[in-house]
Amino acid sequence: MQSCLFCRIIRGDQPAELVHEDEQVVAFKDIRPQAPIHFLVVPRKHIPTLNDLAADDGSLAGHILQVARDLAVQFGIHEIGYRAVFNVNAGAGQSVYHVHLHVLGGRMFSWPPG
Ligand code: 5GP
Ligand code: ZN
Repeated sequence: MQSCLFCRIIRGDQPAELVHEDEQVVAFKDIRPQAPIHFLVVPRKHIPTLNDLAADDGSLAGHILQVARDLAVQFGIHEIGYRAVFNVNAGAGQSVYHVHLHVLGGRMFSWPPG
């Protein structure tokens, strides 16, 4: 996807502070962090929203979760707690239409979310 912001980051055409990359996903710090630790785990494959996951994307989806968990351990937020969120479509505040898992930590979170 030529015009997709996260595809541009994945291609290296747009700078980002990467915290992980492998053959399936990249993870980078959010440019407007909502917590002391806030990174995004993003599949290399352009999938607009969680609604668009295909039947054969199951292992990719699992990998996104495992990378999020591994990075939470790496950042030392796994024991105290962290939040992992997919915003889906406008009603949930999705602004970049390339699937990404937000991982936020380093502060307390309330529930229900805003
Ligand atoms: P959404 O609102 O779609 O769930 O999340 C998109 C996230 O991408 C937002 O938290 C926003 O701050 C982040 N973001 C938007 N543009 C950029 C960018 O150019 N670089 C990085 N690293 N994050 C971005
Ligand atoms: Zn994309």
